[in-house]
Amino acid sequence: MTDNTPKTIYSLDNRILFYKLEHFISDIVNGKCCFICGALPDSKEFNDEHIIPDWILRKFNLHSQKITLPNLSKIQYSKYKVPCCKECNSELGKHFEEPISELLSKSYDEISSELNASVEKRDLLFRWLCLIYFKTHLKDKSLRDNLDKRADDKKIGDIHWWEDFHHIHCIVRSHHTGAQLHPEVYGSIYVNQIISETENVKFDYIDNPWSKGVLLQLGDFCVASILDDSSASIAMYHDQISSIKGNLTAYQFYEVFSHLNFIRLHLKERPEFQSSINSKTGYNIVAKRPEKIELIDEKEWIGTYGDFLRLYVERTLGEVENRDEILKGIEEGKRSFLWDEKGNFNNMSEEKN
Ligand SMILES: [Zn+2]
Repeated sequence: MTDNTPKTIYSLDNRILFYKLEHFISDIVNGKCCFICGALPDSKEFNDEHIIPDWILRKFNLHSQKITLPNLSKIQYSKYKVPCCKECNSELGKHFEEPISELLSKSYDEISSELNASVEKRDLLFRWLCLIYFKTHLKDKSLRDNLDKRADDKKIGDIHWWEDFHHIHCIVRSHHTGAQLHPEVYGSIYVNQIISETENVKFDYIDNPWSKGVLLQLGDFCVASILDDSSASIAMYHDQISSIKGNLTAYQFYEVFSHLNFIRLHLKERPEFQSSINSKTGYNIVAKRPEKIELIDEKEWIGTYGDFLRLYVERTLGEVENRDEILKGIEEGKRSFLWDEKGNFNNMSEEKN
């Protein structure tokens, strides 16, 4: 009998190219090793990596502000970090943060045309979203779920399905391992400009560990991605996306994001990802896509897109009249921000101009 379980694979210069699942869980998830190279905490100098990149914290004045965690506790952005050695931290800066901060500091139209024109920039943006997502949930492993110290020591991250994160981790380290991502590995990605009702330059980050959905807003630039669906969710939502003829309000963007999350969560079959390493072709991350994009039977659905949308809108709705009624309508799918009664796109950018 041959053992086909993937093993940890080292390069000739002794870098870890591929972590076998158990090794990933013991060293990266449960251990305090550098999440890129895997160095043990005492073996190298560590300076730890900001989960929300430092240039974003500076740009949006977030250093002293607090992020709300899934258990509703708060942690200061400047202390929101994961274990990373100094060498890998500066490698991450050069590879991701320098080019991304340069790109995303431009005007929306410039960002959009550069992303449309360059496969490399779209690739970098996708892998950078994977990186932020991965760091966010790696941190969950060191945060107590129940803040009462007398309760058991369960961590927020104990509920995560770490097998899924293993694939994202391979993508996150690809600059370090030299792994090439095959085209079908890229997830759904959607970009639009946000029309803001206020003058405040806004930062926002939302993700969902079950559907691997990520939303990031930096000023008027907003991007949403489903990281591990091989673009199936956006392909299924294609007709609606192509009917959007303008920029979006934050709530309209949330509605797109809710649909993508909903689709990903209910896909009948999901792509299978694999790391393929050999001396001739090097390291390739490949995906086997299902032949058809279909949802599971409606009887088996565990929620609606309205559940997601309610969650996102609730965060910022404030004290308005009929608040509960509005939220209930959103949850039941009776209230759409994107479409009017006739099913036409509610173009809010026309009203603004
Ligand atoms: Zn390292």
